[in-house]
Amino acid sequence: MTSANDPTIVLAGETHAPGAPAPAGGIPLATPDIGPLERAAVVDALDSGFVSSVGPAVGDFEREFAEVVGSRFAVACSSGTAALHVALRVLDVGPGDEVACSDFTFVGSSNPIAYQGARTLLIDSEADTWNMSPELLHAELSRRAAAEEPQPKCVELVHVLGQPAKADEILDVCRQFSIPVIEDAAESLGAGWSTGLLAGRQTGSVGLLGCFSFNGNKIATAGGGGMVVTDDPLLAQRVRHLTTQAKVPDVGYLHDEVGYNYRLTNLAAALGRAQLSRLTDFVEAKRAIAGRYDDAFADLPLVLPPRLPGHDATYWLYSVLLRDAAERGPFLDHLGAHGVGARALWRPLHRQPPFASSALVGGAVADDLFDRGVSLPCSTHLTGVDQARVIDAVRSYFG
Ligand SMILES: *Cc1c(COP(=O)(O)O)cnc(C)c1O
Repeated sequence: MTSANDPTIVLAGETHAPGAPAPAGGIPLATPDIGPLERAAVVDALDSGFVSSVGPAVGDFEREFAEVVGSRFAVACSSGTAALHVALRVLDVGPGDEVACSDFTFVGSSNPIAYQGARTLLIDSEADTWNMSPELLHAELSRRAAAEEPQPKCVELVHVLGQPAKADEILDVCRQFSIPVIEDAAESLGAGWSTGLLAGRQTGSVGLLGCFSFNGNKIATAGGGGMVVTDDPLLAQRVRHLTTQAKVPDVGYLHDEVGYNYRLTNLAAALGRAQLSRLTDFVEAKRAIAGRYDDAFADLPLVLPPRLPGHDATYWLYSVLLRDAAERGPFLDHLGAHGVGARALWRPLHRQPPFASSALVGGAVADDLFDRGVSLPCSTHLTGVDQARVIDAVRSYFG
């Protein structure tokens, strides 16, 4: 087991705090777009007296959300992490189990696996979507089947940065081995597929359960919050039960198992509903910024975000890859000096002390994304002038 302050975890020469804020007066990486609609919704909720988890906005938010993503049921939660935790719990993931998870993701994906006492089986990304490789997953599950080794209890498929994974292929692999899929769609609300087996479907709605986040940095925010969606009425009921302290309805204070206080507040739901009603505009804005950056950077020595036919990404974060790891620090310094709040991509889970002892399949692609990846400012309300400042700052680095 690697200790929490093991210096080998930190790359040699790495001096940048990836989450550092934009310099004063600079352009931040991504900030929420809060307008009069949101302000009115929150004031209404306050005035209604329903501030906590019993209130009409929660149910409305759930119904509207289910409709938007195309799932039968949606259950609101206090965070995306809570949503993932309760999804794992309803699939009976527990001590001794393993959960296959994307290696290249935010730690909010994997912490809930640890909460359940289960181990992570980390699967590397593929270079064309930056998401879990269906080939590597298939190879590992086949190897285990042949060796008569235990299989993971479920697969947690993350759609990073608003990029839909090859979920049709992952679902097909998992079907072969009868393994359920939980989607971590915390970053991919509004993303989906327009061709192939999943044409017309949205990320988060194609696994057995899908989880979303409404943290302040996500495409739509509730201040904080999450959602679990599913087409299975029994699973939806289980999620609802566990998020409300496992309280048996209509019986005086009977709690039939250990539950959680994971319900979303009415105040947060009111904000979330207002943001959800603007989702189409947010997605359009993200895509417009991505299109403008793509055009402006086409001749530079940068790898631009994945664009796959039939994969309708939202570009929640617009991230590029530099030529090599040594360039990342100077590039971030250069952008910082120009008032551009850029940020490195995530350190893969296999380099995080709590997950460093996990079984790992591959890892080189995730390492490379971390070593060379930088996200650029892409708030949905980023002005054309600020987009031009970002473009100029990036171009001037290359001379
Ligand atoms: C944000 C995020 C989470 C956690 O969501 P919270 O609402 O912050 O708890 C989980 N997974 C991924 C991939 C995320 O980006």
